[in-house]
Amino acid sequence: DRIRHDAPVLVIGLGRFGAATAGQLDRLGREVLAVDENESLVQKWSERVTHAVVADAKSIDALKQIGAQDFSIAVCAVGSSIEASVLITANLVDLKIPQIWAKAISASHGKILQRIGANHVIYPEREAGERTAHLVSGRMLDFIEFDDDFALVKMYPPKPIRGKNLTESGVRSKYRVTVVGVKSPGKPFTYATENTVVSNHDLIIVSGTEGDIERFAALE
Ligand code: ADP
Repeated sequence: DRIRHDAPVLVIGLGRFGAATAGQLDRLGREVLAVDENESLVQKWSERVTHAVVADAKSIDALKQIGAQDFSIAVCAVGSSIEASVLITANLVDLKIPQIWAKAISASHGKILQRIGANHVIYPEREAGERTAHLVSGRMLDFIEFDDDFALVKMYPPKPIRGKNLTESGVRSKYRVTVVGVKSPGKPFTYATENTVVSNHDLIIVSGTEGDIERFAALE
């Protein structure tokens, strides 16, 4: 199913995670319907997002009343109560919402959500923890990890590649990673070529498998 990139988003639960999701979607210019059973939270958010309503999303009738079935994307951001999260996600599936994102607090919670029919399960704490470990453990300043173990990392260049061009340092053949872009201080990012010389204070963007990048980043 292809879904329009500007389709309105239904966000259920305005806790820390749901509120951040709804707020960022709003900043991205997306129409959001935020739902929470807590009236004061709804009141607080009603000025920030397009629509915010009080409803108990465990009830499919309550969801129908607010027009949930018309959405093509929904996020179940209720985590701390697994029972509520499961019932809400099941309701979203029953309403035939094609894209359902659901937050899980544990692997078993996530497995249940997937079995019920959530298309995307998010583990915010686990993901933030893994991310922190990467950032704490080395030279990496930022990274994105894709499904199949492929990653894109922002880092300072390890010693063996400094002061040489990328062909001389043999980044691809020796370390099996690709330098995609380079940023010298005060200059914008440029795409790297074979002749790009990487210096000490440059920032580089590197792509490769997670393991190869870890080894590359640990080089002294
Ligand atoms: P976080 O850890 O991100 O703060 P929580 O799981 O603690 O997330 O927050 C859940 C939010 O979802 C709370 O604001 C709560 O009021 C709301 N919520 C819980 N159950 C329901 C429900 N059945 N219908 C609508 N909102 C709910």
